[in-house]
Amino acid sequence: MTTPAPAPSPAVLPDASALREDFPLLGERVNGERLVYLDSGATSQKPRAVIDAEVDFLTRSNSAVHRGAHTLAAEATELFEDARTTVAGFVGTRPEQLVWTSGATAGLNLAAYAIGNASIGRGAPASARFALHAGDEIVVTEAEHHANLIPWQELAARTGAVLRHIPVHEDGTLDMDAAAAVIGERTRVVAFTHVSNVLGIVNPVDELVALARAVGAVTVLDACQSAPHLPLDLPALDVDLAVFSGHKMLGPYGIGGLYGRAEVLEGLPPFLTGGSMITTVTLDEAAYLPPPQRFEAGTQPVSQAIGLAAAVRYLDGVGMDAVHAHEKQLEARMGEGLRSIPGIRLLGDAPRAERVGLWAFDVDGVHAHDVGQFLDARGVAVRVGHHCAQPLHRRFGLTASVRASTALYNTADDVDVFLDALSGVRSFFG
Ligand code: PLP
Repeated sequence: MTTPAPAPSPAVLPDASALREDFPLLGERVNGERLVYLDSGATSQKPRAVIDAEVDFLTRSNSAVHRGAHTLAAEATELFEDARTTVAGFVGTRPEQLVWTSGATAGLNLAAYAIGNASIGRGAPASARFALHAGDEIVVTEAEHHANLIPWQELAARTGAVLRHIPVHEDGTLDMDAAAAVIGERTRVVAFTHVSNVLGIVNPVDELVALARAVGAVTVLDACQSAPHLPLDLPALDVDLAVFSGHKMLGPYGIGGLYGRAEVLEGLPPFLTGGSMITTVTLDEAAYLPPPQRFEAGTQPVSQAIGLAAAVRYLDGVGMDAVHAHEKQLEARMGEGLRSIPGIRLLGDAPRAERVGLWAFDVDGVHAHDVGQFLDARGVAVRVGHHCAQPLHRRFGLTASVRASTALYNTADDVDVFLDALSGVRSFFG
């Protein structure tokens, strides 16, 4: 008889009120009110550990990396490469498989342009398998952020490929029957978001990867809205490429990551070219370094990388299971409260969907911008507009919505203050 494996211990929920103390900005008052920050989907607040890591680097170790024989250069290089190892570990991978970018938008453009370069014969022969030809297909979802849509539109225009999309159901989940019909023999790339920045729903990565793999298509995952909120193991998700954004996961601006499966990164030609990514250069041609340096032309965001490493150490210190469990509680409380307010229409209210702490909604008869200003006057910061997802808003017959999004430092009280303020919005404008 085998001994049953011990049941996994439930995540210890973080004390968000205590965590808040680590975030200097959360102690500020806005319009005379305690700040209730519910805009982490746009950008997160930064703990002191991240701010200090950047300041320490700039005051004690600042120097150009990968160059120079002097002590500071060696120290800066070590810190920079240690940061890569730390951030790579956070998403379950190795440093050689993590390319620094300036953010998710840059990572997605890098992916699309590298595939585009393969399509015009650059990097051959290894890259030939990524090449797109007229009539090939690129598949995205209807719920993409513009950052994971427009680079593929451009790639399609440059190569003659056709851009197709997987629609979303009324409840915000992906139409997987349509996905199975859309992804076919001509599909070369399937690019999709892990979690939509409007719907907050975790997409079925395994099913999409299986469909793409069956036809030999490259998969590109936008993990911007998952990396800050749930444990992420990119190799286990089996995607070919994935991006995430530092400033949304407690880190600095101007830093992000592009993860790639080793053989994919090794096979792709570079996008940006110039210094720091070459072995030898003649007046006629250049030979390139292996990944990740092949994709890191020019001076890198060094202090930002070190700040991002501090951010993921902070997240790991709390524990991503605990972060996810905490935010699920906030999401459930917020969803229930929003459903109980008359005139609110939630976007993506799928009863059984796995979610992160994010709700976008429409308020009947009140423009999203008015809702945002009304809440702001009460110290509540939310996002309003199309959230860089115009096609998705159009699908729901809207041009704008209000979005409240949480992070590990939000409390149940934040949610209650928000709901209480929101419950007065229609009578105020009515
Ligand atoms: N993808 C998603 C789902 C996002 O929410 C965002 C940011 O709003 C981006 C991409 C763009 O990220 P970045 O600001 O790092 O370019």
